[in-house]
Amino acid sequence: MKQHPGVPHPHPVMAAGFLKDRVAPFFHHRHLYLDAFATHGSALYVLESGILKERADRFRSVFEACLTKTAFYYAFKSNSLPEISQILIEKGFGLDVSSGMELAAALELGARNIIFSGPGKTDRELEMAIAHKDRVTLLLDSIGECRRLMNLLKNKKQSLSAGIRLNCNPTGLWQKFGIMPDQLLPLYQEIQVHPFLRCTGLQFHSSWNLTPDRQQDFILSMGLLLQDMPDDFLRDCKYIDIGGGYWPETGEWLVSDDPLCHYHIPAAPLEIFAKKISAALAEHVLPLTNARICFEPGRWLCHDAMHIIIQVIDKKAKDLVITDAGTNAVGWERYETDYFPILNLTRPSLTERSCRILGSLCTPHDVWGYAFFGKDIKEGDILMIPFQGAYTYSLRQTFIKPLPGVVVL
Ligand SMILES: *Cc1c(COP(=O)(O)O)cnc(C)c1O
Repeated sequence: MKQHPGVPHPHPVMAAGFLKDRVAPFFHHRHLYLDAFATHGSALYVLESGILKERADRFRSVFEACLTKTAFYYAFKSNSLPEISQILIEKGFGLDVSSGMELAAALELGARNIIFSGPGKTDRELEMAIAHKDRVTLLLDSIGECRRLMNLLKNKKQSLSAGIRLNCNPTGLWQKFGIMPDQLLPLYQEIQVHPFLRCTGLQFHSSWNLTPDRQQDFILSMGLLLQDMPDDFLRDCKYIDIGGGYWPETGEWLVSDDPLCHYHIPAAPLEIFAKKISAALAEHVLPLTNARICFEPGRWLCHDAMHIIIQVIDKKAKDLVITDAGTNAVGWERYETDYFPILNLTRPSLTERSCRILGSLCTPHDVWGYAFFGKDIKEGDILMIPFQGAYTYSLRQTFIKPLPGVVVL
């Protein structure tokens, strides 16, 4: 069982009926998915662009209602399918990338507004950002990286505006991100005497936010930090990027030892995030600077927008089936801990029945789930696992089995 940070175990049990409301609409539209299977075969990633557009509109409008100057960037790594970025660019989002490879993809997609953050940027990656400075905002991750950038700019005699990422969690492995807040003033002073670099913004990002508590806390610390920064820093600070990490409001779902019992860790609705975060900004940060507030949501936007279709190939016992696809389609052993409903589109029913649904990879860790919604399960049945948009497609790998196809609905 996954130990969830800060959440006591045993976890709360998912309420009866909670899933039925989420599963029913997919069965209702099952012909759409069966048609996609008929045309494109299995295994298949299904992007529902309507769902993605709805999420994008909602994310923007909820925060725009609480803050006057905002900008929105999609965290490319959460799902790198080009069509997703394309749709979000059309919806007015920029892209948030964290490597030269992602930056190249974002430029290729025609994104005009790109944030490039992440630890350990190479000189080549920094040069790429410099070369596309009209479209790219670089966020510096360390003092060493900043000094390397300053050298590059001096050699090229090119000027650049960049932002700085602040570490908001110095414990354990999270220490690798950004500079410690007490390094901001000395780093800023170093930048100020450099002929080619200007500092025009700040960023922080916290992950896995089921509530806005962590973001609120850090905004308070940031307010205290800003109080001690020089006036010219505050005047030149054009953006404060508060990152992503918003958990979808359906909460986190985990498997238990009972195939028909699932854990459900609730998450706050986006409106609560917007209310609490904007109140914290209004109290601690916006009195000091007129900066634009930037957002980098990934998971919240794409989680609901993609499903995976697979097919039963072999029924080896009355409670064990093997599917054509393996979990190389998602790149990690997700379903050993995370729970998602598996819908038998061929024999729809709102009753969940236990059965081990396993992939065809030569490893016992190749698990899709321990139950399915359906009247029965047989060879040839078409199964669909919804809500697979985040941190699956980007992590897919050609391990033993080929990669699934893609269809955009
Ligand atoms: C991963 C990441 C995000 C997106 O996180 P989600 O949990 O998908 O919202 C945003 N910003 C940065 C810097 C990231 O590394």
